[in-house]
Amino acid sequence: MIIVMKRGASARELAAVVGRVEEQGYRVRISHGEEHTTIGVIGDGRPLEREEIERMAGVERASPILQPFKLASREFHPRDTIVVVNGVPIGGRQLVVMAGPCAVENREQLLKAARAVKQAGGHFLRGGAFKPRTSPYSFQGLGEEGLQILAAAREETGLAVVTEVMEPQMVPLVASHADILQIGARNMQNYALLHAVGEAQRPVLLKRGMKSTIEELLMAAEYILSHNNDRVILCERGIRTFEPYTRNTLDISAVPLLKQLSHLPVVVDPSHGTGRRELVEPVSRAAVAAGADGLIIEVHPYPEEALSDGEQSLEPAHFAELMEGLRPVAEAVGRLL
Ligand code: PEP
Ligand code: MN
Repeated sequence: MIIVMKRGASARELAAVVGRVEEQGYRVRISHGEEHTTIGVIGDGRPLEREEIERMAGVERASPILQPFKLASREFHPRDTIVVVNGVPIGGRQLVVMAGPCAVENREQLLKAARAVKQAGGHFLRGGAFKPRTSPYSFQGLGEEGLQILAAAREETGLAVVTEVMEPQMVPLVASHADILQIGARNMQNYALLHAVGEAQRPVLLKRGMKSTIEELLMAAEYILSHNNDRVILCERGIRTFEPYTRNTLDISAVPLLKQLSHLPVVVDPSHGTGRRELVEPVSRAAVAAGADGLIIEVHPYPEEALSDGEQSLEPAHFAELMEGLRPVAEAVGRLL
């Protein structure tokens, strides 16, 4: 249920309503809007009479949230959420581009990539230190050393860092180096991990599982939000279909659909979404045209030598061209880049 307080309702009236709801065994999330304070009622308590709540002093209206995801829904939070990271707003008019290699391989590789991202106008540096690889024999990432290299690149370029965390126990370590915690597609329904990042003091980039529905993605976001972290960014990165020419099938309709169902920012990953370097640029343009708030793109100084995802990684010059080509599309849909 969502309870909208009257304009000018007092703190005491708000406390009385919260008290009544909590008495029934629910938890609340309070959102202070410009005009109204809204109480989101979550959890599984005893029946709550809408009429009774509406009779309480200071209450304008109470209505059930029909979606299974509550805090993630537009009904709970009608306006777009803007997640500000290191002064960069994600989810507002400004389009954000996160770019960098699939994996941090060494200092020289990462710094070259970071400088190229910065020079082309990217806003965040991506790079995996802990890599979820299909094969146990593939490069698994540099681990903590990779995090230190990312932090050094941030120091030099000023770019904030987004990197994946794969286990709940590793959240404090990764959060101590990263600006945004990435939950990879393979872990979208790892509930212990969602719980742990919900308790972390860092924004979360939540990638759609490769066989997950949009509702499952939003329910995964709900886990993070309900554990008190309201800085969640959704990421469409393609889903598995029968089509073998692309690594995944990027679900472009997920972008406007997620924006309709939820207030959370939506970022698109055209690199994993296609798996093919030559498709990254046109699909990036499509994502921006469809209303994405940002992109996450793999860039490597020498893609042919990459230890992971070289086939979908762009060289720096190609990335710079992509950025230039995005500007008119961003402008056409009223975004800044
Ligand atoms: C990645 O971003 O490098 C990655 C592993 O992505 P995903 O979880 O979407 O496969
Ligand atoms: Mn990758």
